[in-house]
Amino acid sequence: MKVEFFGVRGSSPTPGRNTVLFGGNTSCVYICLENGDDVILDSGTGIIALGDRLVKNTSDINILLTHNHWDHIQGFPFFKPIYQAERKITIVPGAIEHNDKDAILKQMSGSTHPVKYQQLPADISILKDEALKHSFEIAGFSVHTQRLNHPDGGSAYCLTAEGKKIAFVTDNELSSPNKMNTTWQQWLDFIADADILIHDAQYLEEDLPLKLGWGHSKFSEVAKLAFEAKVKSLYIVSHDPSRTDDELLHQEQKLQLKYKNKLNVFCAREGTVIELATHEINAN
Ligand SMILES: [Zn+2]
Repeated sequence: MKVEFFGVRGSSPTPGRNTVLFGGNTSCVYICLENGDDVILDSGTGIIALGDRLVKNTSDINILLTHNHWDHIQGFPFFKPIYQAERKITIVPGAIEHNDKDAILKQMSGSTHPVKYQQLPADISILKDEALKHSFEIAGFSVHTQRLNHPDGGSAYCLTAEGKKIAFVTDNELSSPNKMNTTWQQWLDFIADADILIHDAQYLEEDLPLKLGWGHSKFSEVAKLAFEAKVKSLYIVSHDPSRTDDELLHQEQKLQLKYKNKLNVFCAREGTVIELATHEINAN
């Protein structure tokens, strides 16, 4: 199994000299099995580069969306496979609290995009109720779901295949003053013993209390959760758009020092490929 980060930034894309190391594209992770079965997690701007690769073949495409906030769907209009005739694309929208689970398509309507979604040549279907299920199967993966603590709701996914467990939890506030869809203990159960936990940590202590209730977690509490759940490796995503490479390196080093010999912890870098069979990590 390969896990590949195409977009790790939260809120908005952040090109520029201060984000070269960790990357500026918004949320997108690609998981591919040894037999070629694959899924895409989220459709932020990171999916555009992934599309440049996938357009070279004709296999079915499956996209799991956490939720519809802009940074999780905005790459879709530029994802080249949607312009391939009869290319089969299945989308599972997150369990959001609104009746617009097709927002990923509807962003290509009105005056916001020159090509309208009704004109797309690909064979696109949206499984609107799939993420409401506790579990489902897709493309060789067993998927379990959990509700995010985030404005407008959404879904976290735990994917199991080839004896490995990957948890994708973004955007998520672990201790929110708002209604909690999922408690700390429920998160512990959900991610328990995962080989990889990919979790949002957009904030530092100093970002609070101003940003309390905005739907994101702090570095310190995400690492604590991963450690308590006996996760093997934690990859932090949804980096704040204002967070520079130097600041992310500093936060990463702090956590690596604190959890030395207890938890592998990284701030995810765009372009990192994790080979899970050997647990070898190749960053480029
Ligand atoms: Zn969000």
